[in-house]
Amino acid sequence: MKKIKIGSNKELLCGKIVCVGRNYAAHARELGNEVPEFPIIFLKPPSNLISGNEKIEYQPHSKQMHHEVELVLLIGKTLKNANIKEAEDAIIGYAVGLDMTLRDLQSKCKSKGQPWTLAKCFDTSAVVSDFILKTDYKLKGNETIKIFVNDELRQNSTLDKMIFSPAEVVKYISEKMSLEEGDLIFTGTPEGVGEVFPKDKLTAEIENIGSFTTEVISH
Ligand code: MG
Repeated sequence: MKKIKIGSNKELLCGKIVCVGRNYAAHARELGNEVPEFPIIFLKPPSNLISGNEKIEYQPHSKQMHHEVELVLLIGKTLKNANIKEAEDAIIGYAVGLDMTLRDLQSKCKSKGQPWTLAKCFDTSAVVSDFILKTDYKLKGNETIKIFVNDELRQNSTLDKMIFSPAEVVKYISEKMSLEEGDLIFTGTPEGVGEVFPKDKLTAEIENIGSFTTEVISH
């Protein structure tokens, strides 16, 4: 089981990783998709998770790996059919994360109507910073979210551009499946996604939440 670091001295076991697709209108449009009426949900297994001081493995079965920088929520209790307040209260921490994506496989899956699993689920595909507890920082909602690739700014937005807020996302997921302590939610990426290659250095940051620099490696 993968451990999640909270602040300097706490840890939790990582449960399932629930990801939201197309939660920023400009990103939905850049990939030629409609802006969704409900959050689009997919999963990653906990074994995909790494921390920001580990490295991302380039995948030999893909030729197009993309970065997606995202706000990540940490769930602190079991939740089912939550109302908006219960959903908000169940979020106990925040991190900045990367939802690494094999865009060539995803495009192929989409065109054939197949699940995205192989495009989204691979070892090192979910990267997170240490989590900051909500008791230590209250999210304002307009924090900046950015990723630099080799010092070039690729994605640059603010969290208030999300179509569905963190509490709305948690409420919606809890209506479809139980959430539990240690589950993570990747809340979707802003526009500016793009390709990365072995040896690229990726710096992800959300204002007041956290940052890390990782690297893409190939074997
Ligand atoms: Mg994503």
